[in-house]
Amino acid sequence: MRNKLKIGCHLSASDGYLAMGKEAVAMNADTFAFFTRNPRGGAAKEIKQADVDAFLAFAAENGISQLVAHSPYTLNPCSSNEHTRQFALDTMKDDLLRMEYTPGNMYNFHPGSHTGQGVEVGIEEIAFLLNTVITEEQTTTVLLETMAGKGSEVGGRFEEIAEIIARVEKKEKLGVCLDTCHIWDAGYDIVGNLDGVVNEFDKVIGLGKLRAIHLNDSKNPIGARKDRHETIGNGYIGFEALSRVINHPALCDLPFILETPNDFDGYKREIEMLRAAYNKK
Ligand code: FE
Ligand code: FE
Ligand code: ZN
Repeated sequence: MRNKLKIGCHLSASDGYLAMGKEAVAMNADTFAFFTRNPRGGAAKEIKQADVDAFLAFAAENGISQLVAHSPYTLNPCSSNEHTRQFALDTMKDDLLRMEYTPGNMYNFHPGSHTGQGVEVGIEEIAFLLNTVITEEQTTTVLLETMAGKGSEVGGRFEEIAEIIARVEKKEKLGVCLDTCHIWDAGYDIVGNLDGVVNEFDKVIGLGKLRAIHLNDSKNPIGARKDRHETIGNGYIGFEALSRVINHPALCDLPFILETPNDFDGYKREIEMLRAAYNKK
């Protein structure tokens, strides 16, 4: 049963786009995420136009859309090290060119860690990177991911995300990806007061900026600032609360991406569970 819930998981890009599309359909998903290159950074695999064309046709036939690509998680746009910042900038520039092979999708990244420079400097550097890499021509929306706030991570508070957005010129190419494990770990009580958290997001950032959800349970209690994902229903957030997330009127039409520690069968099971819990007809 494939209902209106837009859901998928993080897939390996090593066999190309068509392979990911087929894997998504096999687990009853209609969207997915993937790393644009090796998650640890480094050179990206060449994109084959034939694979892209086959995928685009397959995706259109099978209702796959709203992909949420993920930048390598080792990039740090607000490191105190200038070379590290430049590497993040060069990599993202290249990733955004690669994203145009599959036009109109989303590219999510971690704002980064300020490594002792302070949040304000971090925010300036992240905005500088975005103002450098985002182009008028791109069809991709760049998403800032909400973070758990561990160490010197920027983006653990909605206010920090809002401050970055405020400094970016081409705001229409910019959005936010909300990670349920991360905001829970950052102290937002989506179990006891989901409405309150959604209202807070709206007040500080604006719900119009929210473009995707990373749907994860957490291995840790609220406010732990750890960022350790758990399978759906087996962590401190729990299945009931995550069901309320997918059914919330402000969230229910967004793409939901699972980043839970799972193999193919585990993802398939979670997608089935969540589709069954989805109320919108
Ligand atoms: Fe992430
Ligand atoms: Fe995430
Ligand atoms: Zn995470």
